[in-house]
Order: sequence, then structure tokens, then C-alpha cells
Amino acid sequence: MRIVTGGIAQETNTFQWEPTTLADFQKGSSRIERGQQILDLAHTNLIYGGIVSEAQTQGIELIATTYGHAVPGGRVSREAFETMRDEILDGIRAALPVDGVILGIHGAMALEHNDDGEGPLITAVRELVGPDIPIVAPLDLHTNLSDEMMAETNAFIGYKEYPHIDMRETGQAAMQLLIRTIKGEVNPVMAHVRVPLIAPNQSMVTTWQSALKQVIDRAVEIESEPGVLSATVLGGFPFSDIPFAGVATIVVADGDKELAQHYANEMAQMCWNLREDFTIHPTPVADAVAEALAGEPGSVYVLADISDSGASGTAGDGTAILKGLLEANARSAAVAQIMDREAVTACIDAGVGATVTLTVGGKHDGLHGEPVEVTGMVRLIHEGRFPLGGLMGSGMRASRGKTVVLEINGPGGIELQLTELRGHPNDLNFFRAFGIEPTERRILVLKSAAHFRAAFEPIATKVIEVDAPGISSPKLDTFNHQSLRRPIYPLDKDFDWSP
Ligand SMILES: [Zn+2]
Repeated sequence: MRIVTGGIAQETNTFQWEPTTLADFQKGSSRIERGQQILDLAHTNLIYGGIVSEAQTQGIELIATTYGHAVPGGRVSREAFETMRDEILDGIRAALPVDGVILGIHGAMALEHNDDGEGPLITAVRELVGPDIPIVAPLDLHTNLSDEMMAETNAFIGYKEYPHIDMRETGQAAMQLLIRTIKGEVNPVMAHVRVPLIAPNQSMVTTWQSALKQVIDRAVEIESEPGVLSATVLGGFPFSDIPFAGVATIVVADGDKELAQHYANEMAQMCWNLREDFTIHPTPVADAVAEALAGEPGSVYVLADISDSGASGTAGDGTAILKGLLEANARSAAVAQIMDREAVTACIDAGVGATVTLTVGGKHDGLHGEPVEVTGMVRLIHEGRFPLGGLMGSGMRASRGKTVVLEINGPGGIELQLTELRGHPNDLNFFRAFGIEPTERRILVLKSAAHFRAAFEPIATKVIEVDAPGISSPKLDTFNHQSLRRPIYPLDKDFDWSP
């Protein structure tokens, strides 16, 4: 049995003005992996960890082409998409004949010239391999599901965890389903429903009984029903101004389309009935800082800058919480992180031990707070690469470009990380790599929507989701969506719907 694989994975925030170029796919934590480099992902918790190890376990020949994955950001440039697409197609063409295709995609990629990134890739692969070769793909929970994606794919299986600690597991499940399909043991047919609902990331978190988690729990039950091969609830990615963004359900059944549709409808109706519970109420900055400072000695408060989440393609240079810390004269606070290339350069020029006064952040798009003036001592200059651990990053390295730790208001004051690139602090090493022990700080500021929870909930006395400005804010009615289909909740409230 010969299975070929490749893909392009990026989550697009269309409110980010800066496009994601071919160069962006090759810097920081982003990469274009080819051939053996993809197979070497076997030991990671990424989808390819599951795909490659399952192939090895079952003795299947897996031919790896090209897999480009980028940190979330703006729309992917035509050049980047077409270059990687053509490489993948060339790789598949060279591998023919094959028995099946498994794709490494995200599900919420938009292109400069097309609202859908995955659909055109899948269509091109289908045209190449013909109608009879099964195509299967795992999907991120934040997928914005398009009709074109559904049209030419035999089966999708989505993540069930957010933070996504089950990427490897989902890749493995998709690979197992593809192998069973090739062997003729099952005949996957899919049904889906798009719900007229966009939801903030925090309402999809699975470390508590969020609205989406309640439906995911039902999906797990449905998967044990006879004839059902998989059941998926997608939270969607709301920071994408495209017609098909939002919550959707997919059920894969064994040869029985009606059965698949029945359960896809049931889960979609559940999402709709819960729509009001998808609303998130973040805490004002000053209240969050005051609560943390009033905490018991030894407590650790995570102040999540959910509106400037590095994993949601934002500016990464939001200053609202830093400003709040300064105004409250906060002590024992560590900030991961503010992207500011100019400030990093100025600190490096000044050198370790120098005291500098400079403005940081707020420079990228004016949507994440004003630049803030700070005076501090340059405590550390780091090249910015470090290993990840924990449930999400095991076996991986992160890179945010050159990184500086600025110590504001003396020892025990505010430790501000300045970086050249956006990051998403989902791991304790985002502090430890820079000599900061997160369990010994009263306040940890994290530019993260929810992925931080896997590593930080266990050490946090309390997590506070902070209301700061930014293009991953949970206040979805403050965005200027123009292309999104209407009516859609919560932008429109006075309408009824059923699947
Ligand atoms: Zn996701």
C-alpha cells in the first residue's frame, strides 16, 4: 500500500493587513518541510506525529512531498500558495500510482486572491489523482469549512481538544480511516452543516464545560453509534471576513449518508440552541491587574491578552496590559511578549546592563493599543530559539527571533520580553528559556487566546481573560465583517434557524 502526503497549514486572520509570504513560511517557528523532514515529525505531537507513526506501525509506504506550516497571520500570498501547491502536486505526480492521499492542512487558510485556501488545494489534488483515490485529512478545530473543501474529500476528522493536545491522535485517526478505506473495510461518506454562528475562541476551550465542549461531548457519544466512523464539531475561526466562517459539524458514516446527515443536524441544532452561551465577558485591564496584585502571597495570576493572541494572527505588539501594570506600579510581573523589532535593536545596541528609555509596541496597526514609553535595564539578549515541552510542544523548538528581557522598576518589578517575531506562549519555556521562573511570579501576561491553558492552568491560581483591544477580541460585534454570510449570530440576533 502506498500513501502520499503533503499540505499547507496556516490560520488566516483577514483583519491582519500584512500578508503571509513565502519568506514568512521559512522564518521563526514556521517551516517548509520536505520528504524526510516530514517523516522526522514522527516523534512530535503534531498531526504528522500520528500520521507517520501509524504508517510505520502498519508497515505502509508513506511518500512525503512538501508540508508548509506558518504561524497564524494575514492572508497567504498567491506566490506562497502556488509555489507550495505546485511542489506538492509534483511530488504526488512523481509518486503515482498511489492508493490514497492524506493531507496536512489547517482548515482556516485564506489567500490573497481567494477566501478559501484548502478548497483549491484539495481540488487540484483530486484532479491529479482522479475520482477513485481516497483523500482524507485531519482538521483543526478552528476550521472555516467551505463547500469546495467538502466536495472532493472522502473524510475529515477534526480535533476535539482546545488547547489542541490531540493533534497527534487526530492525525493517527485520519490515517487509520484512510487505510481501512483503501483496504475496502469501510466506505466513508460525509455530511456537514454550517451553523449561522461565529464564536469567540474562549467559548471553544475544552479544559472547562464551554459551549462547544458540550457539543463535542455529544460528538464522542455519536462516534460509538453503529455505522458512524467519526463526528466533528468545528468552532471555526471568527477573525476571518469570509462567507463561510463559523461553527460547523461533520459526520463521517460507513456508506450511509442519511445517518451522517442525521447526526450532523443533531449537533448543529445543539450549537444553535446554545448560541447565547458562546458569548464571552472579558475583565477590564485595571480590574484584572488589581485583583492579581491583591492575591495571596505565592499566588500566580495569568492575565491572558486574548485579543492579541499570537496564535490568532494578531499584531503581537499590544500594550494595554503593560500600560495597566505600569499604572498600577505592579511588582513581580512577567510579560510574554511584545513584538517590536526596533526596540529589540535599540536594546541590543545599548548592550546588557544598560538602562534604556524607549517606546514599545503599538506600532504594527494601531489596533492593539498605543506605543508605551518604558525605562528599564537590558537584562538579557537571546537569539530566541528554545525547546518546547509540555503537552503541545513536545519534540519541537520555538523561535521568535532575537529576544530581549527588559527589567522595569528594578529587580522584582516588571520583566518585559521584547521580540522580533510574533509568538504564542503556550509553554512554560516561554519564560524559563529567558531565566524567568513562572511559578514564582505574581502576574504572567500571555498573548494567547487559550493554548496557554495546557501548560499554565496547572501552575495558575487563577486565569483572567482580559479585555484589551485587538483583532482576536471576543467582542465579535466590534469587527467590521463585510463578506460574512448573514444573518449570523451574534451580529444578528433576531432570526430563527434549524438545520
Ligand atoms: Zn486551532
